Amino acid sequence: MATTKDYQVYDTESKVVNNFVCGCRRGNCIVTQHPDYIVDTRHYCAAMTAAEKEFFICGLLYTQWGRGKRSMPYWVEGIQVCQKMFEFVHCVDHKTLTDIVKKFKARFVPISP
Ligand SMILES: [Zn+2]
Repeated sequence: MATTKDYQVYDTESKVVNNFVCGCRRGNCIVTQHPDYIVDTRHYCAAMTAAEKEFFICGLLYTQWGRGKRSMPYWVEGIQVCQKMFEFVHCVDHKTLTDIVKKFKARFVPISP
């Protein structure tokens, strides 16, 4: 059962999400459209081990790679976002994501669009 503390954490996290600005030229990629989804995904990803997160992100990249052709393969809820937003949503730092993408490219042939 959720405690008051859980709600406080959730509330704080909502503020973090609502205050996040990726700063890219797309503007605020998706926060305004899917704040609840982002809060939930961050909770989910924060609880993963590094290996679980790598597996999860590889799965996302695998299903999403073809859609953006040669452009950025980062999608959240059907919306193409910048890498910074993708990192934020999945609680992954830039270096870790870069390493995962590198391994992913070495391991899989991207799906043709
Ligand atoms: Zn962005």
